[in-house]
Amino acid sequence: MTSRDVATTAVIIVAAGRGERFGGPKHAATIDGHPLWERSAAAFASLDLSVTIVGDVPGGIPGGTRRRDSVASGLATLGDVEWVLIHDAARPLVSRALILSVLERLHVGDVDAVIPAMPVSDTVKKVSGDRIINTLDRASLVTVQTPQGFRRDVLVEAHRVDPHEDVTDDAGLVERLGGTVVTVPGEATNLKVTYPEDLERARAIAAVADRRG
Ligand code: C5P
Repeated sequence: MTSRDVATTAVIIVAAGRGERFGGPKHAATIDGHPLWERSAAAFASLDLSVTIVGDVPGGIPGGTRRRDSVASGLATLGDVEWVLIHDAARPLVSRALILSVLERLHVGDVDAVIPAMPVSDTVKKVSGDRIINTLDRASLVTVQTPQGFRRDVLVEAHRVDPHEDVTDDAGLVERLGGTVVTVPGEATNLKVTYPEDLERARAIAAVADRRG
């Protein structure tokens, strides 16, 4: 990554929200004594990228009601950058290698968004209540992670045209706008801390990763 790439790329880490499934806000949750958001922020900062944190954390800016509102708060503070990465603080195990992989693909400059994706190993079915409707072709399905990388102008426009629609990731808004979104391989260790038991798994993975250096 060149110094120009660094200068033209900003990172927003979203760390707001009520953490209902976690049983409360995740601010207080720690891995090896460090809050989840701090671990993510350190990974981006180690690549000299400028990081804005959204949420009730030291140095953070206020978030919004929905995740997309928190992202919008972050976008509103950005200077004149060409590219933006959006990352969930709830994924504290993001690696430098994954960040670089997203950025390298993004900086080619031929797509609007780049997102890490994982193949689906379980069989996935569509349901209505407890009734199975059909079985989906898992070969054509992926699960997606953050960091998600965007052309900043496209992401800002996607937020502007569709202010009421709720989405669980930013790439969803760019898709609705008709933008080009491509994937890079995600990482199994880049798990999302959603439920309390996820924190135990994250701590175990972090302990192994930290031992390896
Ligand atoms: O709620 P969910 O698990 O999808 O949250 C994903 C990420 O979005 C978390 O890092 C959380 O802190 C953030 N978020 C936010 N503002 C909200 C809701 C979620 O910053 N209103």
